[in-house]
Amino acid sequence: MDIIDLHIHTECSDGSLKISDLSSFAKENNIKVLSITDHDNVDAYSLLNKEYSSDLNYKIIPGVEITTEHNNSIIHLLGYGMDINNKEFNMLIRQIKLSFATQMTAVLRKLRNRGIVFEDEKQWVIKGLDKLAVYLVERGYFDNTEAFFYDIFYCEGKRVLQRKKPKSRDVIEAVNKAGGFVSLAHPVIISNNLSEIEELIIELKSLGLSAVECYHPLQSNNYNEYIAITKRHNLLITGGSDFHDSNSIEYLENIKKWGYSFEILGEVFDQCWNNRNISR
Ligand SMILES: [Zn+2]
Ligand SMILES: [Zn+2]
Repeated sequence: MDIIDLHIHTECSDGSLKISDLSSFAKENNIKVLSITDHDNVDAYSLLNKEYSSDLNYKIIPGVEITTEHNNSIIHLLGYGMDINNKEFNMLIRQIKLSFATQMTAVLRKLRNRGIVFEDEKQWVIKGLDKLAVYLVERGYFDNTEAFFYDIFYCEGKRVLQRKKPKSRDVIEAVNKAGGFVSLAHPVIISNNLSEIEELIIELKSLGLSAVECYHPLQSNNYNEYIAITKRHNLLITGGSDFHDSNSIEYLENIKKWGYSFEILGEVFDQCWNNRNISR
């Protein structure tokens, strides 16, 4: 069966998939339409445009997964189909990058104060905290990555270092203005309580949310319930494997079971993009 996977991470965020391996990955898994939805950046798309554009054996939909703040809690929003060169959208991505850089500067300062000094500090702004944590554990500065995060980000049980995250409202607005649409990612991670989720969806819809990620591996037992809520509010259904690395192979298997079909995606095409930002 042909597969549509609208939630894939690559090495441009916390996945292991190389952009140069995307074609073989798509072929192996029979994926005909995919979206790379890296966390908080769209770097994969500039790599694709520059180096691999002639190489594609699948359709690609521009995507991103943005960590946002919503009423003092954290929710992940998936942006799809936006023009990634749009000015306002670019500004949003730049602000997010800046927030990561500011946080990393604070982390490096804290490490320096403890006498942990290493060469080429700038590279970690690009590589990110997770990779820095692994690097420091490998060099014996911390017992494990959890210890690194706890030591650096907390003081007497209270979180003292915090990255400024964009508001859900601003992310939805920027993606919509860039000609795309927003789907609420993996609602089950936010709450197991379906009526709470429904309320959240109603609120986000009033801010311009267009879709809900009903098909997600963590929701495979009750995805029909998410579909029911989504349809009740006339929103679109999206889905994907949330593939990160070989540990999430079974996530892809789930997608095959669901039969997440071209019919559903067709609806998404018609209502939101008119195929405008979809390249072959
Ligand atoms: Zn997520
Ligand atoms: Zn994800």
